[in-house]
Amino acid sequence: MEKSAVIIGAGLGGLFTGAILAKEGVKVTVIEKNATIGGGLQSFTRFGEVFDTGMHVIGGMQPGGNIRRICKYLGILDKIHIKDVDHDVIDTLYFAEDQASYRIAQGREAFVDSLAESFPDQRENLQRYVDAIYNIVGELDLFYLRPSDEYVVMHSEEFIMATNEFIAKYITDEKLAAVLAYMNPLYGGRKDMTPAYIHSLICVLYINGPSRFAGGSYLFAEALRDVIVEHGGQVVTNDGVQRITSENRLITSVITRKNRVFTADYYISAIHPCTLVKLFEGDSPLPKAYVNRLNDIPNSYSAFTLNIKLKPNRFRYINHSAYYMSRYDEVWNFSRENWRWPLGFLYMTPPDIDQGEFASKMIITAPMTWDKVKRWEETYIGNRGKEYEEWKAQCAEELLSRMEEIYPDLRDCIEDINTASPLTIRDWYAVKEGAMCGYSKDCNNIMLSQVPIVTKVKNLLLTGQNCNVHGFCGVPLTAINTSEVILGRNYVLDKINLKENDE
Ligand SMILES: Cc1cc2nc3c(=O)[nH]c(=O)nc-3n(C[C@H](O)[C@H](O)[C@H](O)COP(=O)(O)OP(=O)(O)OC[C@H]3O[C@@H](n4cnc5c(N)ncnc54)[C@H](O)[C@@H]3O)c2cc1C
Repeated sequence: MEKSAVIIGAGLGGLFTGAILAKEGVKVTVIEKNATIGGGLQSFTRFGEVFDTGMHVIGGMQPGGNIRRICKYLGILDKIHIKDVDHDVIDTLYFAEDQASYRIAQGREAFVDSLAESFPDQRENLQRYVDAIYNIVGELDLFYLRPSDEYVVMHSEEFIMATNEFIAKYITDEKLAAVLAYMNPLYGGRKDMTPAYIHSLICVLYINGPSRFAGGSYLFAEALRDVIVEHGGQVVTNDGVQRITSENRLITSVITRKNRVFTADYYISAIHPCTLVKLFEGDSPLPKAYVNRLNDIPNSYSAFTLNIKLKPNRFRYINHSAYYMSRYDEVWNFSRENWRWPLGFLYMTPPDIDQGEFASKMIITAPMTWDKVKRWEETYIGNRGKEYEEWKAQCAEELLSRMEEIYPDLRDCIEDINTASPLTIRDWYAVKEGAMCGYSKDCNNIMLSQVPIVTKVKNLLLTGQNCNVHGFCGVPLTAINTSEVILGRNYVLDKINLKENDE
């Protein structure tokens, strides 16, 4: 008999879960509060340019990569536009403290070689460190899309070691240890807290080869939506879920802002769990202790983004990401509240579909904690007041002056700028405190931040970045987990693997 599912939220998690379920015969309805689908995949047009909001660097799209294999199974590979970064330089890092630059190359051996150029006496340590991060990721069957029948998975001691301790275990040079933590902003890294498996996953993903969306990440969201629609499902936009009704500890319906009522066999929440728990009407069917826990889990820090439209033919396109850090001893300070800002940031020139020699835009993303915007937390988009606008202009100025240390002529190349703060992220995606990567993972209390995809309400499942791992690689893997609760264990993984063996 045909099963049905209502999915709340058309971000990466909701769309991937919806596409998988629709492809496998489930009648899917995805409900999105915004007029535009995508969540973090959303793009917006300003000054005639398409800017992406929350998906700039992506992994798993190289030949044989896990997300590429899932896209192939969904049949969307020929509909998406992905550009790989340069193999000999996947990232560059600049430390203002000693004006040192580092180049990171793609692939296990090349990664070690590129860093050993600057730290020759650490070559063997680097090799052991890289082996260790690959071993940790090897413990994760799902990362390699390997079916598994284990219900209780045992992990090595290093798996949940604090990342800073894990790096220090292998690397004796303090500068190199700081350099190896440069991807912190990509996973909300916190000292003594972020488990080594999160660090390892992100590093392995990018050492294997990062890519970027050409022409805008929204095209990827649209390709996923098309899978849902082609298989008889629907994606409702501009009408968020406002209430959820329940009876006898089962969800009975979701009701939208426009008073539309949707019912299904399964309800899947692809929104922040703190947003979900507020939607229950009357007595929540979720146990109080569970709701308290969801509200208590710390969130990752947020970000301030500076979007720049560049003048034509003025600034050369750079086919890799670049990181600016003020000081080596501050790489673990991004999460510190009441701390000076910015400590560092990532900048990149996103590619157009027919990318030529010059870039049309630049995006600068700088981690930012919630306390910086707390005084405006009662305000909403477009209505935050003059003081807020002035503060944003000052933040943009801070970032531009740092960029001028590297590109003295940058200001001459700028046609226009636009900014987004943690408040923008909170209000667009309905994410508590504008958390960039959802819940923070804490190696000191790993159970607290591991939110299972099943809940005490039998027909309510969770998906998205707050369960397991965030981002372009983590969220689709969780979408498989969530879908398999309905379809059966290893059902989707077997299909993905079968499809490859067939070809
Ligand atoms: C500034 C920034 C930069 C980032 N850069 C990268 C990057 O380069 N690479 C990477 O891999 N990851 C990056 N991330 C992280 C990535 O964007 C997220 O991990 C991912 O988008 C999360 O997907 P999701 O589906 O869980 O949640 P979201 O994308 O937040 O989707 C949730 C959706 O639910 C909708 N919603 C909320 N409430 C309701 C409701 N009541 N009813 C209906 N709909 C609702 C929201 O509008 C949203 O569309 C970045 C994040 C930020 C903020």
